[in-house]
Amino acid sequence: MRGDERTHDTVRVCLLASGSRGNSTLIEADNTRLLIDAGLSGKETQRRLAYLDLCCDDIDAILVTHEHHDHVGGIGPLARRHHLPVYIDSRTCAALTQLGTIPQCREFDAGDSFELNNLLISSFSTTHDAINPVGFTIDSREGKVGYATDLGIATRLIADRLHQCRVLVLEANHDEQMLIDSAYPWALKQRIRSRHGHLSNEQACLLLDDIGWPGLEALFLAHLSEENNCTRLVTSLFQQFVQNKDYRTQVIVGSQSRVSACFHDTGAVVTASEADQPFLIASKI
Ligand SMILES: [Zn+2]
Ligand SMILES: [Zn+2]
Repeated sequence: MRGDERTHDTVRVCLLASGSRGNSTLIEADNTRLLIDAGLSGKETQRRLAYLDLCCDDIDAILVTHEHHDHVGGIGPLARRHHLPVYIDSRTCAALTQLGTIPQCREFDAGDSFELNNLLISSFSTTHDAINPVGFTIDSREGKVGYATDLGIATRLIADRLHQCRVLVLEANHDEQMLIDSAYPWALKQRIRSRHGHLSNEQACLLLDDIGWPGLEALFLAHLSEENNCTRLVTSLFQQFVQNKDYRTQVIVGSQSRVSACFHDTGAVVTASEADQPFLIASKI
């Protein structure tokens, strides 16, 4: 699908980049295209959208989870150059003086829900070492997409909000033993493992045990540590998990260096190769 050839009954989700050097996720539902976070430069965002036959002008809005640079680095240029509205928690916005002028800044308070075209966007608080971090759910006629990364723990609130998602983007930051054995300074290990740090593979599995259901069509694992995690490990861990549950969920692991496979509900999962990202069509399970 190119440019403005939008169809109403399409849900598409793809991680443009995921990890501590830049995060950005495309979510398309009911005729609207969103970016959750824009941690890549404007130019790199454009380059990666082109792999999906999109450009920045095809995006309707950017939603911001929190003020860390790996989530907001490209927001200023994207918002100004492409006239994109930016939806952001008011306290997070106040802390982000380095963003420059955002012509269409739409402030909300963590916990608020709001409408954007035909979508209902709901924010919920997460625990992380940021001013007022949030996750999101996006509801449309085609179901619910949930997004939760950069969370120290999976609270009851988060689990409640992420029930019955059709597509879920969930943090699987580190393998706990790899982090303990790593050369990271003790204080950094403690920060990552704290209630305000990042969710481990094991914690993500526990959360999924609670919120997983047969209607979960795609599970994206996001924000993997490049030092303390491993794509193969995460893939096999979560594939095993969905198999044990007898779910038919597609497991897709995000990467820092390339666009992830795409969930697309038109019957195909699009994957991209490591080198030049040509599209390969695999049948949907
Ligand atoms: Zn982050
Ligand atoms: Zn963060």
